[in-house]
Amino acid sequence: MEKIKMKTPLVEMDGDEMTRVLWQWIKEILIEPYVDLKTEYYDLGLVNRDKTDDAVTVAAAEATRRYGVAVKCATITPNAQRVEEYNLKKMWKSPNGTVRQILDGTVFRAPIIVDGIAPYIPTWKKPIVIARHAYGDIYKAVDGAAGQGKAELVFTDRDGNVRTELIHDFGGNGVVCAMHNTDKSIESFARSCFNYALDMKLPLWFSTKDTISKIYDGEFKKIFAEIYEKEYKEKFEAAGIEYMYTLIDDVVARIIRSEGGVVWACKNYDGDVMSDMVATAYGSLAMMTSVLVSPDGVYEYEAAHGTVTRHYYKYIKGEATSTNPVATIFAWSGALRKRGEMDGIKELSEFADNLENAVRKTIESGSMTGDLVGLFKKEGIKPVKLGSKEFLQAIAERL
Ligand code: NAP
Ligand code: MG
Repeated sequence: MEKIKMKTPLVEMDGDEMTRVLWQWIKEILIEPYVDLKTEYYDLGLVNRDKTDDAVTVAAAEATRRYGVAVKCATITPNAQRVEEYNLKKMWKSPNGTVRQILDGTVFRAPIIVDGIAPYIPTWKKPIVIARHAYGDIYKAVDGAAGQGKAELVFTDRDGNVRTELIHDFGGNGVVCAMHNTDKSIESFARSCFNYALDMKLPLWFSTKDTISKIYDGEFKKIFAEIYEKEYKEKFEAAGIEYMYTLIDDVVARIIRSEGGVVWACKNYDGDVMSDMVATAYGSLAMMTSVLVSPDGVYEYEAAHGTVTRHYYKYIKGEATSTNPVATIFAWSGALRKRGEMDGIKELSEFADNLENAVRKTIESGSMTGDLVGLFKKEGIKPVKLGSKEFLQAIAERL
């Protein structure tokens, strides 16, 4: 069989620990035998980030801007313990944070649905995708303790005009918090959501609490509405999908009753909380994909989980592991499909579909990794736990 040819390289960002091990095997067993794989390789493993003073992360993000599509392995975000473990020059920032700042993107998280692994909500048949705004609000807030006295909000414009508003006149101890967002960031968030929904041909629901937070959340609602009217209304109508704005309480109720098959755009905190709820309700973090979409249409695919440290320590001791590679495989298939679409290579996009189908069929026929065994329920099929590499080989047999 002749291998599928690529035109433009994918930006490949390698990572750490168990996912770095899986990364190599996924390429060897599931991709390179079928695709004449072209990548521009960046080693974002912690050792190389430290060696390059993290310049490699910036270079990888810039390459992603140039080429348009990247695939990223999970990486360690160092803490004090990692600084010691890897003898680091300093506590480098989260690579995902660095990439996100350069690409100015929104993160979309979608569960991988497999027959036999039922969501806890029985009506959910299709994926619910959470789009989380990744800038501002309480994550960039200034907060502090208050005692007896006045807390005030003061805004000084460039001409020196001052506007002061009383927050609260405290009679005793309490707390205050000031948060912000920018129209520019909200506009990017809106465009990323509209583009993603069009791309996936899924309806978009956006929720805030503007009945209570009239100016702050009201700004989000207004910006989404304006951009929709001006830039996306016709495209949504042509694609036969809806855009709906409603209160977050209303969406929560609708989501639980829904069949899924919707993109739910959330403010930063709402997205943080709701993505964990949705991931858990679908079964497993190892079955959750994640893609960063920039407002100008650049895509970076990854798994939603981390480097699976505990399994890696077993692996290096030579013990058997059964780490789930599905989300990382779907990061590769997502990137290859997008590359195929952008370059007009139909076979490449079809290969991505086939790869995903082979993964689903493997699990549906009862072969899976240990994390899924307890979740799997299908008439007449007894689930079998395979090792990390054996599972990849079982998928290859179905390709
Ligand atoms: P984690 O790597 O997601 O693993 C947490 C636990 O979840 C694992 O110990 C394992 O449970 C289970 N798990 C996660 N993925 C799995 C998979 N593919 N197959 C089977 N089980 C899986 O999170 P963490 O332990 O909090 O973080 C480890 C490192 O990853 C940290 O250094 C962190 O900085 C990094 N991290 C990176 C990213 C990213 O690059 N996007 C995201 C999150 C965390 P059992 O041990 O019970 O089997
Ligand atoms: Mg969270």
